[in-house]
Parts: sequence; C-alpha cells; structure tokens
Amino acid sequence: MTGPELLPLEEARARILEDVLPLRAGSTPLAEALGQILAEDATALLTLPPWDNSAMDGYAVRSEDTLAATPELPVVLDVVGEVAAGHEPEIAVGPGTAVRVLTGAMLPSGADAVVKVEDTDAPPGVASLPRRVAVRVPVPAGKDIREAGSDMRQGDHLLDAGRRVTPAAIAVLAAAGHARVNVHRRPRVGIISTGDELTPLGEPLGPASIPDSNGESLAAQVRAAGAEPVRLGIAIDDRGVVRERLLEGILDTDVLVVSGGVSVGARDVVKEVISEIGTLDLWRVAIQPGKPLAYGSAPRPDGGYCLLFGLPGNPVSSFVTFELFVRPVLRRLRGEDADGGRVHVWARLTEPVRKSAGRRAFMRVRLEEDRAHRGLWLAHLAGGQGSHVLSALALADGLAIIPEDDAGAEAGTEVEVIRLDIEVA
Ligand code: AMP
Ligand code: MG
Repeated sequence: MTGPELLPLEEARARILEDVLPLRAGSTPLAEALGQILAEDATALLTLPPWDNSAMDGYAVRSEDTLAATPELPVVLDVVGEVAAGHEPEIAVGPGTAVRVLTGAMLPSGADAVVKVEDTDAPPGVASLPRRVAVRVPVPAGKDIREAGSDMRQGDHLLDAGRRVTPAAIAVLAAAGHARVNVHRRPRVGIISTGDELTPLGEPLGPASIPDSNGESLAAQVRAAGAEPVRLGIAIDDRGVVRERLLEGILDTDVLVVSGGVSVGARDVVKEVISEIGTLDLWRVAIQPGKPLAYGSAPRPDGGYCLLFGLPGNPVSSFVTFELFVRPVLRRLRGEDADGGRVHVWARLTEPVRKSAGRRAFMRVRLEEDRAHRGLWLAHLAGGQGSHVLSALALADGLAIIPEDDAGAEAGTEVEVIRLDIEVA
C-alpha cells in the first residue's frame, strides 16, 4: 500500500498546533496550583515588608549615639523596652536609649539603625531584658533595617501569565497575599493500547503475549508533562472494539492517545476509526522512528473537541512521537509555550550512524562531557537504534537529531541533542 507523502516534521507540528488553545482557567487554592500555569499576571496585593523592621536580633538605636563606639570604649545605652515580631512597639527610642528587637520586629519610632546582639555585651539567645547595653561598634543610619516595601509594593507586577507555579512562585504568591490563583485546567489525557498481544501489567502472559508497556510509559509521560492520564485499557485489534473504546474515551478527555494499529498492517484499524468518529488530519511524518503517526479530532457530545493521536506501537516510536508531538500539545493546553521545557545541546558523535534518507532521525544517545573542550558534549549511541529497543532508550540522556537529507553521519559530526534528562519550566 502506498500512503500519502511523508509530511515534514515542522509542517506536521504546525498543523497539529494550529487550533490548539489553552484550556479555560479557574480559581484554585494556592497549595493545589503547584505545577500548573498562571492564566493571568500576578501582582502584589500587599506591600512587603509592610513596615520598617529589624533584620537582626539586637538593639534598635539612634545611629548618632553609636558613632564614637569602639570595642575598647563601648557606648553604653539605657534599654527602655523590647519589641518582638508580631507586636506593635509600645515605646520610642530617645537620645541615649535602646530598645531590644527581635528579627522581623517593627522598628520603634526614633530608631534609625539596629546593632546586632553580637556587637554588644548582651548575651545572645534567651535572656532577660538588661537595663543597659554596651555597643562596641558604630552603626550607620539604616544598618540592619529592612525598609517597608523593599521586597514588593502593593500593585507591583510579580509573575507573568504563562509562568509555572513552582515552590518559589508559591512562596512569593503567598507572601503577596494570594490565597487562590487563576490557573489553566490540567488536560485529561485518555490512553488506549491496541493489540491482541498485549497483557495488562501484573497479569500472567500467554504464549504469544507481551506486557502493555506503552500504556505505562505514555501514562508516565502524560504525568511528567503536567497533565492527568486516564487509563482506558487495552483494545484488541478489532475495528468495532477500537471504535467503542475511542467513543467512550472522547466523552471525558481533552486528548486521546492510542498506541499501535496505525501503520499499514492488515489489522491496523486506528486511522479508519479516527475518520469514522471525527476527522483524520494527517498521517505519516518524515521522521525515524515514528513515521506512521496519525492525528485528528472528534466532536464530543458536550460541544467540545477531543484531539486524537494514533502513535505507532513500537515502544521507542511511541515514546519519541509523544515527545515530539503530544507533549507540545499538552504544554499549549496547560497554558505554556508549546516548544519550551527542553534543553538542546550540541554534541560530537563518537561513532558513525546510519539512517533512512528523507526522514529526520532521532537517535538515542548517552552524553558525556568532552574533557578536552569545556562546555561541549560527546554523544555515544545508547545501544541498538531499532524502534523496539527499549533498553537503549532507558540508558539515553537525549535524542540526537540527524537531518532528513543525510543517509547517516560520520564519527566526529556535531549534532543537536534534545536532552530528555533535564526539564525546564
Ligand atoms: P503496531 O504499531 O500495532 O503494528 O505494533 C508495532 C510493534 O509494537 C509490535 O511489535 C507490537 O507488539 C508492539 N506494541 C504495540 N503496542 C504495544 C504496547 N502497548 N506495548 C508494547 N509493545 C507494543
Ligand atoms: Mg498492533
């Protein structure tokens, strides 16, 4: 059977992403927003610090009173009170006096500097309030005072829409007064494995069966991409069964990923089923592995659309086509830039590679730092490059890209590598 022309990778990606928009946003408790994407810019609801406060455990003083202090001839000040964090000052600092302050305490009026306890004769740690304190060093005005608004002012811009909510973002949002944030909904991604030979994980294998590893790896890839996997099990290679499973799957998911049954075999029914229940937009991309990728969409009863991916069943092809096509879609649906999140590096091949001309190859490589050339990498083939060789995939740090037109590359060729072992927001 001769299929349609192979689509160049960029064209396939552009067609797939053309109509994909971020999912609607909703208000979410801050603690539940970890890993999700801000749907709007975040601004400060508070000024922080709200008032001048002490950066140290020590004594609030008037700088001018301390200017003559030395370790040999300390300046002695009367201690007239104390302010702890969370308490309003009840007393001011006047000439010749000091107020003991704890870190984060509001600065009492009259004071313009703090001398830390280590620079006085007062004992550090828990101690009763002394009547006097000897200051051993001069402290300039402003010393160890955290000024009101020195972190943020109410209305300041903090984080852009599209930013991922990291633990650090949670810290700043909480400090800025946000108990809830507007984030995009996580995509729900249905996963269906097709094949008579497949057995669910943990069940005894028949004489002609293998574990459904794609179901497991795709669910893990979906989760790693910040989306929610919905396992829809295994469908045998029967048009009616596959069709029923897809029709059930689209009811409640944003994306359906079907693995296997998408090539030119006598029982490869997935493309036909996609055409029956919706539209098949493209099939066959000029890549290796993963050529028989199919993409389409189907209307849902609620008026929306479910995006449908038919990924080739070979485990490495399934993994790589998810990385190249499904992951960008999930990022876009989540509200992130589709192409972000991966680091690309340049590396020199340590051995020659062969490939099919006319298809861009993604080869599993292990990276090693090039000791002779700082900042450069050496790329070793991680093992056999067959689409069924999972053992090499597991050892790989990345995918080395070999251009369409080449039939291979010599040892020493510089190649671009997509690092799979590093993810950046
Ligand atoms: P297919 O794309 O259905 O022709 O399958 C290609 C190869 O991938 C065959 O050797 C299948 O047994 C294998 N395969 C298909 N689906 C899976 C799966 N879910 N888990 C592991 N291997 C699979
Ligand atoms: Mg199959």
